[in-house]
Amino acid sequence: MRLSKETISNKILNAAPRVNMSRRELIRGLAVGSVVPIVTSCTTNPETGTSQLLLVGEGQIATMAASAWTEMKQQTPLSTNSSLNARVNRVWEKVAQGAGRADQDWEIAVFDTDDANAFVMPGNKVGVYRGITELTENDDQLASVLGHEAGHVAGRHAAERYSIGLASQIALVAGTVAIQQSDTLREYGDTIGVLGGAALQFGVILPYNRRHELEADRLGVDYMYRSGYRVSQAPRLWELMAARSSGNRPPEFMSTHPDPERRATELRQYINARGYDLV
Ligand SMILES: [Zn+2]
Repeated sequence: MRLSKETISNKILNAAPRVNMSRRELIRGLAVGSVVPIVTSCTTNPETGTSQLLLVGEGQIATMAASAWTEMKQQTPLSTNSSLNARVNRVWEKVAQGAGRADQDWEIAVFDTDDANAFVMPGNKVGVYRGITELTENDDQLASVLGHEAGHVAGRHAAERYSIGLASQIALVAGTVAIQQSDTLREYGDTIGVLGGAALQFGVILPYNRRHELEADRLGVDYMYRSGYRVSQAPRLWELMAARSSGNRPPEFMSTHPDPERRATELRQYINARGYDLV
């Protein structure tokens, strides 16, 4: 069985220790004020300057992800194409330099499937499928995919996503008051409202977060620029994605990264505003 990105995310979340708090304990915790302050505490990300809800550290998340990564590599064929592996690694190294992460240990896996997808997992693991490398017209477009993934790392999105899942469970008990108290949780207010209690069970994956994706897009373009890639190829990649999404089999990247046309437009605005290029 090939693991989809969502399956991997679920595995990470399911591998996490469950919150062993009964509803009564949670309510008691809320009553004495020992739970809500956790929910509403945010930290500022030094790289992005954004305020984040982080209830777990990067290290804890990496431990949880390690087994999912191992399983992934056992179950999905790895590409033995040496030129493809060299290409992905070469582009990654340049992007990592642009991201200021070249001195870190990274593990890159190129999976030999048609999936037009890529992902990053906590613990500096990057997965790239042959399918997305074939979709790209040049290294600049591959750099935009890898830059986007590096952006998720800088944004600490995995830890935040996990934390929101945890906080949502608490919020379910605390009710809308806790949701209203937290800017981060309020962003998820609509989702929480629509999906109700079932979606808030700990271990249930939350839908993609538009803010995370846009932040990763912008950071990815920053890294492309710093590493000498043509930033104009980032919106071009999204146009290619959009063109393919109208067919019978939309790229898998689309299931977690919707709105390609809109993102291409937003990327153009960002690139122009930063003066990287005129696109
Ligand atoms: Zn993404």
